[in-house]
Amino acid sequence: MTRTDARPTLLGIPFDAYSSYLRGPAQAPPKIREALHCDASNSWTETGVDLSVPGVYEDAGDLSFTETSAFSEIEKSVNAVIEQGKRPVFLGGDHSITYPIIKAFARHYSQLTIIHFDAHPDLYDEFEGNRLSHACPFARIMESGLAKRLVQLGIRTINRHQREQAHKFGVEVFEMGALPACNKLKADGPVYITFDLDVLDPAFAPGLSHREPGGMSVREAIAQLHAIEGDLVGADLVEYNPVQDIGGMTATVAAKILKEILGKMISRPAQTGSI
Ligand code: MN
Ligand code: MN
Repeated sequence: MTRTDARPTLLGIPFDAYSSYLRGPAQAPPKIREALHCDASNSWTETGVDLSVPGVYEDAGDLSFTETSAFSEIEKSVNAVIEQGKRPVFLGGDHSITYPIIKAFARHYSQLTIIHFDAHPDLYDEFEGNRLSHACPFARIMESGLAKRLVQLGIRTINRHQREQAHKFGVEVFEMGALPACNKLKADGPVYITFDLDVLDPAFAPGLSHREPGGMSVREAIAQLHAIEGDLVGADLVEYNPVQDIGGMTATVAAKILKEILGKMISRPAQTGSI
């Protein structure tokens, strides 16, 4: 099966019930879209892709689900979107959603590389009694063997437990102090990007539930994104919290990151015939 012409497709997942500290990211998808279409900027990516060309990407709106069965409904919907031959780009939501998303991807891609931008490793075995917390998705993904590689960038809060977890699961952790890691971002086979906006320094992105100083500038994050080589089959942009934002600054940043992700997917279509 080949998906070389698969269109990137936006899909909002307004879910923040597994946030450990603040709610708010469920309100993010329409705010990111509004910033994406704002006349303050134009529709061109830095890599030379014009996102206003009809059909270069599509927007499938937001998923709706009931909070109690959210994860099974998210997994089912994501599976259906992949089966339609689309390359989904998810607008979160908190980071817990990446677990049901990757469960669906693993049914289609057995050799997935996940490139994970975050201040936090999100590798807790459980957090405050919740194994599905937004602090845990990559423990669930790796212990279930849902990805071949997990490459984490921008980490700056790792503790002993999470370092042990990273070692146990063979996670490639590039802590913030070790960046740039641009030459390490080459992946064979399908690649999924998961971008937690708190990888950015809160000076650039105050609209976050967990503001962690010492992070990437927007420029550094874009340089890392542009350095990724591989067949991009999907992505998510999570943890934007409009409640914490100041004048929509972080929505603008989220839209900028989204544009560059879409631009990469469009200029380098996925070649998935070898999986
Ligand atoms: Mn995260
Ligand atoms: Mn984070």
